[in-house]
Amino acid sequence: AAGITMPKVLEAMGAVERHRFVDSGLVNQAYEDTSLPIGLGQTISKPSIVARMAELLLGAEIIRTSGSLGRVLEIGTGCGYQAAVLSRLAREVYSIERLRGLHDKARVHLRPLRLANVHLLFGDGMLGFAQGAPYAAIVAAAGGAAIPPQWCEQLAVGGRLIAPIAGADGQQMLLVVDKTAHGLKQTVLEPVHFVPLKSGVA
Ligand code: SAH
Repeated sequence: AAGITMPKVLEAMGAVERHRFVDSGLVNQAYEDTSLPIGLGQTISKPSIVARMAELLLGAEIIRTSGSLGRVLEIGTGCGYQAAVLSRLAREVYSIERLRGLHDKARVHLRPLRLANVHLLFGDGMLGFAQGAPYAAIVAAAGGAAIPPQWCEQLAVGGRLIAPIAGADGQQMLLVVDKTAHGLKQTVLEPVHFVPLKSGVA
C-alpha cells in the first residue's frame, strides 16, 4: 500500500498484472517496487509512483461536479502499464508515445486485456492531443524543464495535470496544476525520477 489509501486505486493496482508489461527475463522482478527497463532506453514506472499519480488524479475538482473521471490523457505510454491502471479509474484513456517501437509493444501488451476505453496514439505528446480535449486529467510519465502550454490549454476547467518537472538544479519534482475558473494553481510535491520528456517522434 506504501501510503496509498484510496480503495479504488488499490483495487486498480491489484487488478493489473505488472508482469504482463515487462520482457520475459524480468518477470520475476515485476512485483518489486522498482522501475525496470522496457527497451529503447525507457523504463516502466515504479508501481508506487503509478499509484501516487492515480490518487492525485482522483483528487481533481471536476470529479466533485461530474461524479467520475472522464477523459484522461497520458503522455508517455511506454509499455502500457499505467494506461491499463488508468483504464480502471477513468471513462476514457488516451495515451500517447513518441517511440514507435514502444507504441507497438504497448499494443501487444494491452490487446489480451481487451480494454475498450484505452486509445493508444503515436505522436509527440508535448503537443498534447487536441482531438480528445478537454481532459479531466493529464498525466505525464516523462519530465521536461517546463510544462508545454498545450497541456494546460487542453485541460478542462476543474481538471488536473500531474507531471514531473526539472528544477534549475536538475532535480525533478512532481507538479500538480489545477485549472480553475480563475486560472491555474500550481503545487509542487515530492522529488521524483522520470525519464526525460523529448520532442518529436522516432
Ligand atoms: N507510462 C509508462 C512509463 C513509460 S516511461 C509506464 O506505464 O510505466 C515514459 C515514456 O514517455 C517513454 O516511453 C518515452 O518514450 C515517452 N516520452 C517521452 N517524451 C515523450 C513525448 N514528447 N511524447 C510522448 N511520449 C514521450
